[in-house]
Amino acid sequence: IWYIINPMWQLGFHINNYTQFKASGERILALLNEHVHVKNKPDAIVLNKEQAKGHVQFEHVSFHYPDKSNAVTDINIEAPAGSVIGFLGPTGAGKSTIIQLLMRAYNVKKGSIKVDGVDIRDLDVHSLRSIIATVFQETFLFSASIRDNIAYGAGNVTQEQIEYAAKLAQAHGFIMESQEGYNTLVGERGMGLSGGQKQRIAIARALLINPRILILDDATSAVDMETEHEIQAGFKELMKGRTTFIIAHRISSLRHADEIIVLDDGHIVQRGKHADLIHEAGPYRDTYEIQYADYLLKQKKEKAAASN
Ligand code: ADP
Repeated sequence: IWYIINPMWQLGFHINNYTQFKASGERILALLNEHVHVKNKPDAIVLNKEQAKGHVQFEHVSFHYPDKSNAVTDINIEAPAGSVIGFLGPTGAGKSTIIQLLMRAYNVKKGSIKVDGVDIRDLDVHSLRSIIATVFQETFLFSASIRDNIAYGAGNVTQEQIEYAAKLAQAHGFIMESQEGYNTLVGERGMGLSGGQKQRIAIARALLINPRILILDDATSAVDMETEHEIQAGFKELMKGRTTFIIAHRISSLRHADEIIVLDDGHIVQRGKHADLIHEAGPYRDTYEIQYADYLLKQKKEKAAASN
């Protein structure tokens, strides 16, 4: 149940389909409107998608929306190409703002954001966004064939490329089981797909776009354990070799990140790896103890039983 946005194509597509999506559509439109704020410099540098590495640096970044106090303050992040950075924090902590700034929906007020060492204010904004793809955890298929749903946003792709992506995303199997294969209609008027199946289609879509920077946002809903297992392989494949930013409410989505950043009220209040953060008093450990209460209790009981 992830849907994916590539900023290069979201404008035309989502407005046409707006009424089909309602809640998610509103969110996309909100993102969209924000995207028109910035202008290219006359001598803007065009990022070459093939050569881009996806090294991301936030240096002393602060930002506020018009007439508001700071949404984020003094954010420092070093994300080497291919690394995984996780964000945890309550609603309003600044997670989406950080992502919006990276996509240059707005220019930072203080500090700088660099991609492959270049300040993104010096980059051609379309070329910046063409190396980023976002996968949201929400149902997002439009009324069309499975093939078109996978190919959308990737430009000209062949059936072979589509099938290759679907195989990597563990979607090829269930697609071939449906009566018309890749021509099967899905979405509002088509075949119903399970949450896990929709998510695998979204992963195939993202694989075809082949971004250097991947943003995963699981802020809105939770999937059951079985579905989570189903999609793990596809997900691992998708993240391979890409710089990934994960916004998550669940520790299980964050625990393998190279660095987890805990935000509160626009400030970084904790950072580190899962293994270290669970031994440190603070919001990360609190969240872990709540989400893993059953597991921790079981562990405790087993320990007690063993020592008796
Ligand atoms: P999170 O993603 O962690 O929930 P946000 O980045 O959305 O947090 O929000 C950080 C702060 O910025 C909040 O105080 C929020 O109200 C404010 N904010 C977010 N988006 C906008 C916007 N478009 N206009 C004005 N204020 C905003």
